[in-house]
Amino acid sequence: MYKFKEYLTEARRQRHGTDSEYLKNKKMSPEVYKLRRVIIDMIYEFKKIIDLPRITVRVTEDGEAEEKNTMGVGTMDDRVVIWIPEKTLKRSEDTLREVIAHEIGHAVFKLRHDNSKMMNSTMNYPAMTKQEVFDWFKSLKKK
Ligand SMILES: [Zn+2]
Repeated sequence: MYKFKEYLTEARRQRHGTDSEYLKNKKMSPEVYKLRRVIIDMIYEFKKIIDLPRITVRVTEDGEAEEKNTMGVGTMDDRVVIWIPEKTLKRSEDTLREVIAHEIGHAVFKLRHDNSKMMNSTMNYPAMTKQEVFDWFKSLKKK
């Protein structure tokens, strides 16, 4: 049976909520809270360089991120949400920082993928250094 009401609820949740289309948010626990803290601390470092709005951060299960080889997701709609799968948090600090900055590129600046190092659709190694990421934010400020 086609449940229109449920469909609407789901659509609304995706539009206004903090659920990704395919990544599943991890349930909040002290452990997940700590993981999210790592991401938020990196965002605080970025905020010393450039003004950023409030960014909703969710840590997700690896599930489909594993299959699709996704390191993170950032909203391209009017929400400002980034999703980071747990596996990305196990990568090097530079890799994690670059992924977070890239997703902020989508979620805050609504940048699409291009051939630049930061907004490339695939992660290239070695990851960008902390200074390169900071310089990228500085370059956005001038636009
Ligand atoms: Zn992307």
